[in-house]
Amino acid sequence: MPLKTYRKKRDFKVTPEPEGHTGAARKKNARLIYVIQKHRASHLHYDFRLEWKGVLLSWAVPKGPSLDPSVKRLAMQVEDHPIEYAKFEGVIPEGEYGGGTVMLWDFGTWEPEQDDVEEAFRRGDFKFTLHGRKLKGSWVLVRTRGFGGSSGRSSWLLIKHRDQFASREDITETNAYSASTGRSLAQVARDGGGDVEKAATGDPAGRSRNRRK
Ligand code: MN
Repeated sequence: MPLKTYRKKRDFKVTPEPEGHTGAARKKNARLIYVIQKHRASHLHYDFRLEWKGVLLSWAVPKGPSLDPSVKRLAMQVEDHPIEYAKFEGVIPEGEYGGGTVMLWDFGTWEPEQDDVEEAFRRGDFKFTLHGRKLKGSWVLVRTRGFGGSSGRSSWLLIKHRDQFASREDITETNAYSASTGRSLAQVARDGGGDVEKAATGDPAGRSRNRRK
């Protein structure tokens, strides 16, 4: 039951996050989906999720992705999420697991670059191509030693490969808003009755200084 941990951490009477019961019927030949959710919880991070075998494999990336191939971004693997989570943008009530504001920062499809995905995971050297609204081209997740251990969380590094989509641009700053609705974190929080002040700390500095109360 791959979603057991996901469900155990959440009270679906309180959080608007999907329980994932519908099994998310997917067309046989549908492309695999990919999403990054910008999440202002106790700390700002970016949740990187790839559809695989009926769930979203998930990593929390504290600094978010970098388009610069010389930059390695820590990505902590977290519990699998239901496919329906890929549509979630909104407010998780304070006091709940992950309490805070979630923005659909990027979404699209992905494809593996290796024939045997399971083997690539096991080896801890997993290459893939993203077709997102923001992120495109070739990437790799490399598992590192240390961290995790008994907690069951493994730490990986998310790295951009050199291709025409590599860049020095800091895309988390230059393209900071929702790929779905165009909203800032503060706007998502305001619309969802969340903590606007807290959410705004995850928006680009200039914008949050000028925000309306
Ligand atoms: Mn998160």
